[in-house]
Amino acid sequence: SKETLILLYGGRSAEHEVSVLSAESVMRAVNYERFIVKTYFITKSGDFVKTQEFTELPAADEKLMSNDQAAAEPKISPAAIYEKDAVVFPVLHGPMGEDGSIQGFLEILRLAYVGPNILSASSTMDKLLAKHVFEAVGVPQVPYVAAFADENQAEIAEEVVEKLEFPVFVKPANMGSSVGISKVDDLTGLEPALLEAYKYDNRVVIEQGVDAREIECAVLGNGGEVAATLPGEVVKDVAFYDYNSKYIDNKIQMDIPAKIPADLAQKIQDFATQAYKAVNGAGLSRCDFFVTKNGNVYLNEINAIPGFTQWSMYPLLWENMGLSYSDLIEKLVDLAKSAFEIRE
Ligand code: ADP
Ligand code: MG
Ligand code: MG
Repeated sequence: SKETLILLYGGRSAEHEVSVLSAESVMRAVNYERFIVKTYFITKSGDFVKTQEFTELPAADEKLMSNDQAAAEPKISPAAIYEKDAVVFPVLHGPMGEDGSIQGFLEILRLAYVGPNILSASSTMDKLLAKHVFEAVGVPQVPYVAAFADENQAEIAEEVVEKLEFPVFVKPANMGSSVGISKVDDLTGLEPALLEAYKYDNRVVIEQGVDAREIECAVLGNGGEVAATLPGEVVKDVAFYDYNSKYIDNKIQMDIPAKIPADLAQKIQDFATQAYKAVNGAGLSRCDFFVTKNGNVYLNEINAIPGFTQWSMYPLLWENMGLSYSDLIEKLVDLAKSAFEIRE
């Protein structure tokens, strides 16, 4: 008999739309010889709604339910997703998806799930905590200043002037997909950028801006058994990728594999693996680096549930290594099951 794969998609975070696209992509690529797919939508207000079920590849024009349609459907209890032996793929990004909360919920339900565990999700979602961890294991990062909304903001500005050079990047600690992030060119821009970031989190990271290539590496595995791909490059044609250029205008161009020397690629793979293990990575992560003209490598962040459409960097990096999108999904399910067996 077939295994049940439960897709959780949508979600309360600002990255709701990205999640719908990723889930739709997964639903189209699943091996229906092995799985049946049940989908549950999490609305922007956090309600769970049961959406479609697929026993075979859906028609090309069949879309997963979006927020407006789902809002009219009956809400279910989140625990009602439970089904013995099912594997859940939380195709969710950002807070309440990628931050350990849904992972904790699934552990309480005693369900196997794809991707990061509570620790790896929560520690990588928080850009500030992640920095402390990467620092501890010696993975290089750009200089930064930590800021809290209820601290003396004039003192923060002083620290920024002392430790960093403009431009700087101001980021809420717990966001993703460039939400709440600003590039600040001089001191006058700092306060408004901080106010914007505090809308999303009371903890904020102010980072040294670097003029750098953006090189990303896909990591797959559980515990000590981890594999990293040859890196890819996000080829930039705008100053930085905000939410719109990332997902709405589809402006991102990728170079896979990245045109970089082999020893640099190796160094990036090693840092990615090291950082992944340090946060107890599970399932998958995309590790994003900056590489400057003079060859300095800095880890920017780990995305524990990276964009996962068929055209996203993470799956394409694996495709370049010979692992197809459909096989990648199966591999992730198998990793979820082995993590589950260890937990149980
Ligand atoms: P998110 O989790 O939202 O993707 P990032 O930290 O990756 O947040 O920042 C989004 C984008 O902003 C990066 O991909 C990069 O283009 C730009 N950026 C962020 N930090 C820096 C920095 N310190 N120097 C230069 N560019 C940066
Ligand atoms: Mg991110
Ligand atoms: Mg990023």
